[in-house]
Amino acid sequence: MVRKETHTIKHLIQLQDLIVARAQQQASMPKARLEQLDKSISTLAGELPVELKSHFNRLLQKSIEAIVPITGDNCSGCGYALTKTMVNSIHGGDELNRCPNCTRILYSPDVPLTRNSPRRRWGDPVKRGIERFSAPELMVVSLKGTTREDVLLEMCNNLREQGYIESCDDLHDAALRREAIVSTAVEHGIAFPHVRGVEGGGLTLTLGISKKGVDFGGTTKTKIFFYMVIPTAASAFYLKLLSGLTQSFAKKEARDALLAAKTQEELWKILVKATKKHII
Ligand SMILES: [Zn+2]
Repeated sequence: MVRKETHTIKHLIQLQDLIVARAQQQASMPKARLEQLDKSISTLAGELPVELKSHFNRLLQKSIEAIVPITGDNCSGCGYALTKTMVNSIHGGDELNRCPNCTRILYSPDVPLTRNSPRRRWGDPVKRGIERFSAPELMVVSLKGTTREDVLLEMCNNLREQGYIESCDDLHDAALRREAIVSTAVEHGIAFPHVRGVEGGGLTLTLGISKKGVDFGGTTKTKIFFYMVIPTAASAFYLKLLSGLTQSFAKKEARDALLAAKTQEELWKILVKATKKHII
């Protein structure tokens, strides 16, 4: 079979990654310099056939994710169940397929990033604010790692040990690939590492603190890591969460409180309190 569209799909995925990275920078760093990303985006977009480019732009006006992986036999953007013929064509990569429902461009992920979905028990109180995305067991009070790779792996391992994901192999690689596009480190020693396009479960946040700080590509050492695992369907919401966290920790006192936490429980309480106003 001639896989003539594989190249176009890779091109679109790369473009999509840059567009999301740009939106992330905007949400987490209001004064971010975006020239470099803008340049890369316009170069990649400029290489697309005119019709595809305008379809892609139309999709982007509706949602930040214009090209999405399929999850089993479904579009991960809207959940629509695709026909077997279409799924086979997507796996074959021989033509560009659009979701019949949301018209997003669909592709077959090389390695599906799967995760578990923590079960909620009957009678559990309805969760609000940050509690919808995180939990006390996802607080890492004292990261031991001294490199970018080590701290990311430490947080990933904690997610695995707590039963939120099955394995760290692919997820960890994906987080590092994302850092290679442009560092997620922002001002004030904060970073927002993450993995997008994960199958299953909801948006999950784990918070890690490094007392000494780690060189994470920012202007200063990074001490506060908000690591997020993001299903495709939650992409738009993720940007709101990112902006809410940025606002919650814009003041030094709020960041100092996180850094001073001695136990998981204490760190969790500080996170809940600090985000109450900005994350509803
Ligand atoms: Zn769809």
